[in-house]
Amino acid sequence: MTNYLHQGDLPDQLDLGPVVAIDCETMGLHPRRDRLCLVQLSSGDGTAHLVQIAPGQTVAANLARILTDPSVLKLFHYGRFDIAAMYNTFGALAAPVYCTKIASRLVRTYTDRHGLRNLVQDLLGSDLSKYQQSSDWGAAELTKAQLDYAASDVLYLHDLRRALDLMLEREGRSALAQACFDFLPTRAQLDLAGWPETDIFAHS
Ligand code: MN
Repeated sequence: MTNYLHQGDLPDQLDLGPVVAIDCETMGLHPRRDRLCLVQLSSGDGTAHLVQIAPGQTVAANLARILTDPSVLKLFHYGRFDIAAMYNTFGALAAPVYCTKIASRLVRTYTDRHGLRNLVQDLLGSDLSKYQQSSDWGAAELTKAQLDYAASDVLYLHDLRRALDLMLEREGRSALAQACFDFLPTRAQLDLAGWPETDIFAHS
């Protein structure tokens, strides 16, 4: 596994292919309050590109181009948060997207264990460390342990998608999942626009 650390944006001309796994590390769980610190991306070849975002940074042209490219599918786990965090930071709304947590909820109805670590363990038989999850991602110099942890969050998403797509197909829920993925960028915008906890489909 190789990690490439970049400052502020992806390098020019870097082609990550038609399907890119993406994860973000932030200062906390409020996409407006807590700034974006790191964006991790992987084409699925076992390497990860880590982009460190500076305080106050609002532009990352190469990254934004991938987010909004209609021919590039963006893979997330709980994309709702990452999409909101990057939209809030760069004004770039990720689409089209795929979310392994939504896929898991739609097919793994026999369990309530839909965390990334649960999926990696149950579907791929690997163990993911949780150790650096709540570390200080705003530090100017990230440690090797932080970078390895951050990279590991995108390295399994391609394999997870393959496993979950087979289950969605088997259970006849592929179209339902696709409709949920298509709505996800709008769901992220609702979070930022003031409806984070409200189910707008609810009767009351
Ligand atoms: Mn992460």
